[in-house]
Amino acid sequence: MDVTEKALVLRVGRFREADAWVRLLTAARGVFTAFAFGGFRSRRRFLGCLDPLNLVLFTIGSDRKGAYQQLAEGSLLNGFKELKADSSLVGQAVNCMKFVEAIEPGPEDGRALFSLLLDTLETLEQKTPTGDLFPILFRAKASFELGFTPDFSNCGRCGAGLGSAASVSFSVESGQVTCSACKLQQKPVDGLARQVSVGTLRTLDWIMRSNPSEWVGLGMASEVRRQVFELVELFIAYHLGLQWEGGNYKKV
Ligand SMILES: [Zn+2]
Repeated sequence: MDVTEKALVLRVGRFREADAWVRLLTAARGVFTAFAFGGFRSRRRFLGCLDPLNLVLFTIGSDRKGAYQQLAEGSLLNGFKELKADSSLVGQAVNCMKFVEAIEPGPEDGRALFSLLLDTLETLEQKTPTGDLFPILFRAKASFELGFTPDFSNCGRCGAGLGSAASVSFSVESGQVTCSACKLQQKPVDGLARQVSVGTLRTLDWIMRSNPSEWVGLGMASEVRRQVFELVELFIAYHLGLQWEGGNYKKV
């Protein structure tokens, strides 16, 4: 049976002469591949649809044996034309998109990542933010959406609020903050613990609670930025098993 779903197009490839394979993200299924037979010939059935960074309403069915997904037709809902005209915005959008593709969310995480990626593309297009922070904010927010939600405000051992402490220890492995008093009593060395500023943890906490439209105009002091980058990359490597390498995320 055919169903109609909104999808973000992540990647499109050609096989045989006129057939296309399309890597898609939908809320109900997460990331998957579907085929558009004759997709490059039949301009009418897929008018303007088969390009990355498009939001398309696709009619999706499967072959008779149910072995693969097949696109019957599509109508373009948003081609993000203005975003695509700005190379800095495209770079950031592609980076976010590649991250989602590397995570390969299934049906259980599809809804959260579909709405996060769509929000991000709409914000990049409508608000044309300056700077280049969207990819790192996106990666952090996506990790939080996947269920990693550390308590950034209190010591995980004694429960004390971090208040005006200058720096504390944060463990990427346990997602716990350790205040300096508890750190003194701590015996085993945690290789994934980093000494960070409370400002860095507040920034991460804010990212966890905010939406892409609120990220416009966000600035970070260079030391906070460095620490946020380091923690997010460690987080992604440890919890999602992904590492940035040569322009793509790879499973490690
Ligand atoms: Zn403590």
